[in-house]
Amino acid sequence: MNKPAELKLDTVPVWMNGKAVVPQGRIGEVFNPATGQVTKRVPFCDAEIVGQAVRAAAAAYPEWRDASILRRARVMQRFLVLLQEHQKEVAGLITQEHGKTLPDAMGSVQRGIEVVEFACGIPQLLKGEHSENVGTGVDTHSVRQPVGVCAGITPFNFPAMVPLWMFPMAIACGNAFILKPSEKVPSASILMARLFKEAGLPDGVFNVVHGDKAAVDAILNHPLVNAVSFVGSTPIAKYIYETCARNGKRVQALGGAKNHAVVLPDADMEFTADALIGAAYGSAGERCMAISAVVAVGSAADPLVKLLEQKARKIVVGPGDRDGVEMGPLVTAQHRDKVASFIEQGKAEGATLVLDGSTPPVKEGFFLGTTLFDHVKPAMEIYKNEIFGPVLIVLRARTLDEAISIVNANPYGNGTAIFTGSGGAARRFESEVQVGMVGINVAIPVPVAFYSFGGWKNSLFGDLHVHGMEGVKFYTRTKATTTRWPRQDTPAPGLDMPTLG
Ligand code: NAD
Repeated sequence: MNKPAELKLDTVPVWMNGKAVVPQGRIGEVFNPATGQVTKRVPFCDAEIVGQAVRAAAAAYPEWRDASILRRARVMQRFLVLLQEHQKEVAGLITQEHGKTLPDAMGSVQRGIEVVEFACGIPQLLKGEHSENVGTGVDTHSVRQPVGVCAGITPFNFPAMVPLWMFPMAIACGNAFILKPSEKVPSASILMARLFKEAGLPDGVFNVVHGDKAAVDAILNHPLVNAVSFVGSTPIAKYIYETCARNGKRVQALGGAKNHAVVLPDADMEFTADALIGAAYGSAGERCMAISAVVAVGSAADPLVKLLEQKARKIVVGPGDRDGVEMGPLVTAQHRDKVASFIEQGKAEGATLVLDGSTPPVKEGFFLGTTLFDHVKPAMEIYKNEIFGPVLIVLRARTLDEAISIVNANPYGNGTAIFTGSGGAARRFESEVQVGMVGINVAIPVPVAFYSFGGWKNSLFGDLHVHGMEGVKFYTRTKATTTRWPRQDTPAPGLDMPTLG
């Protein structure tokens, strides 16, 4: 007898202590956004399942912490090779569950792989400091030690890259890790967990649980979790930060964004328009570093808007796995509808609608076309909110001063870019803008893995950015030791505050 189609769907397992397990309990649906169909199911873990994963990590931690640093580096090197060999497979899962095009998914996995390359250098990165004779016959040295069990909670828009910002760094530093990827895109994490095991990672060092708020809260409230990395929207980032702080956990919580590109009249307009089109509509605008607001200065505005309209109109929209497609669907029907409602709101607020993408260009799936608004004002909702879709808005400013004020008055501070031929203007912009990542004639200034990624203001709650040296600092604690081997002529310590001279 044929089973109903929905009963044949695979369930994405969790990864617990080196094994794939399908726990009992609540279940969610995973969609293919290009077709609108449910393709898999995913377990929503409760506190009991999360607790099992945390206990597995805590049990595996002491041996991994004490493993030689070269052994940890070699496991990482094998993981790097396996990830490279399976890059297309990981990218394919991303396209199936997120919707972005395959070349875009490949690029995002590549950026994640680069963090693993960086983590392979962990013996060099973890070197401490040593000073001889800080006092007569007294030496001081410092080491970086792992923090214990760390957790990562990640968003839907980069199913592999954002987890890869976290767990390779944490594990190379000697920690054990629990990953809770977005329940919308759960499969890439499980494939990466399998590859890490194949690379020789001991069971329990890396675990993956799935789910929603219940799973996240179980992580935030578990006494054995020492550090939490989060990437997602600003309200949840703030909640994660506050809850972890209350529970005494180390935390870095990266939030949402409204990234501005300032365009001066002396910019190469054709080049600028191409860069902005990629940054605004790539991945259907579902990137935290997407340029969603252009601030056109003076006479730059009219020619720039004309070019943007021509180029945005030509973007080929369709399923991400089809050759020639440049922009895929939105992640869910709800998100597509939310983005469409912002287009309506922009019209109602009086912005000039240059290109209207609200009519889906493809019948099935969660598609929208490309939308461009001009003459947007900072008080409008389409400016104040992170739309996270293929909607680009243009504000007009008279001067560079005014443009910088607009960017700095925005509560987000993730990424920004300036397009200009003037070194002086670019230097001023870089110096004065209150944003964590700046591009000069670079629309998406995502730092390479050996620098750190992170924003300012409402785009980051916490102190340290991810990967690069800030990642090493986040996943380790510094210990400084002062040593004296007394000789017969060493004076006896007294009651006064010791000073070493
Ligand atoms: P989200 O905040 O809805 O979800 C992120 C994670 O938090 C997911 O794992 C989700 O399961 C969990 N979560 C959701 N609601 C929760 C709740 N009430 N309590 C506890 N946990 C909860 O974000 P998203 O929609 O998956 O991703 C898009 C957002 O992420 C955008 O705002 C984007 O700008 C941001 N983002 C930021 C960066 C960055 O580096 N700053 C990078 C990528 C994405």
